[in-house]
Amino acid sequence: MEWCESMPKIELHAHLNGSIRDSTLLELARDLGEKGAIVFSDVEHVILKNDRSLSEVFKLFDLIHILTTDHETVTRITKEVIEDFAADNVVYLELRTTPKRNDSKGMSKRSYIEAVLEGIRSVNSVEVDLSHKLNMDTSAYSHAMDDVCNGTERKKIYVRLLLSIDRRETAEAAMETVELALEMRDLGVVGIDLSGNPVVGDWLTFLPALEFARKQGLPITLHCGEVPNPDEIRAMLGFLPRRIGHACCFGDDEWKRLKQLKIPVEICLTSNIRTETIASVDVHHFADLYESNHPLILCTDDAGVFSTSLSTEYMLASSTFGLGKRDMFQLAEKAIEFIFASDKVKTELKMIYTTALKELD
Ligand code: 5GP
Repeated sequence: MEWCESMPKIELHAHLNGSIRDSTLLELARDLGEKGAIVFSDVEHVILKNDRSLSEVFKLFDLIHILTTDHETVTRITKEVIEDFAADNVVYLELRTTPKRNDSKGMSKRSYIEAVLEGIRSVNSVEVDLSHKLNMDTSAYSHAMDDVCNGTERKKIYVRLLLSIDRRETAEAAMETVELALEMRDLGVVGIDLSGNPVVGDWLTFLPALEFARKQGLPITLHCGEVPNPDEIRAMLGFLPRRIGHACCFGDDEWKRLKQLKIPVEICLTSNIRTETIASVDVHHFADLYESNHPLILCTDDAGVFSTSLSTEYMLASSTFGLGKRDMFQLAEKAIEFIFASDKVKTELKMIYTTALKELD
């Protein structure tokens, strides 16, 4: 596990509200329980339960959203999630979250994302690069001046945001999210994700918003094939997203098409096993994709909900598929090609990996 922990890693599929610490969720639930807003004993076991089906996971997200949707909490969980990824030696994090409107808290989609940005800016245990443009304009978002803390080099993490469209939303709400992403491009937003319960809604509802995003140059990743739905999978692949997440329930034809198109796949091993989308890790499609040299990225999905970390996912892939330290290092480094941030960030990440390679053995 040690070398998986110390290796620099790139995380491209992490949902903010799925990555919250259990301890924080319990604390928030206890607080709301004391205020009489929920019954703590009813939710405690839901938070602590480990094995959940895909539909139970979405019920848990509804609970999490009740616990987290005010500005202060959104800021707090964002800060903690970044600290946790940085502590796991994630050097580049693309964090995705669904901008939420909550009139009772005076929250708009914009103010939700502003609270997320505030959380990113409030991280001080590690240097955060949120946007090259911001770093040039002002030092407020970068803690570069504090490079040396207590006599030791501070770690650095690049954080970029993807705004998620939830499959429950309307076409108008999806368009609002894309417009927000475009306005916030210079603040660290680099792309759009389509997620949410895969058995809810029709992805075609979001096609106008997704096409508009692409026309404006925003890269898109789609949750694709979490449930068997060949028509949707084929249509999603035909849309040519820059990446897809999961790809669990592909038939032979869709599999062939995916490989022809070489669309990179964000692989979330523990998530797929826990939600029983894949029967067991040894039959996971990681093996086939890896052997055919198909672009793939190991990710956590929901590190809090599934009690995992990126190091744990690397360790699991290494032990299940017989991959050594160097193989895993190469896999981690290869992810640089698939990030949505600028070429400048890619160059800087390559330098981090060149340095780390010298210390590998
Ligand atoms: P948030 O966007 O609120 O920060 O993160 C939680 C949300 O991400 C969930 O409500 C859901 O919409 C989405 N999400 C998290 N994990 C998964 C997953 O495994 N599959 C899909 N389709 N969506 C997910």
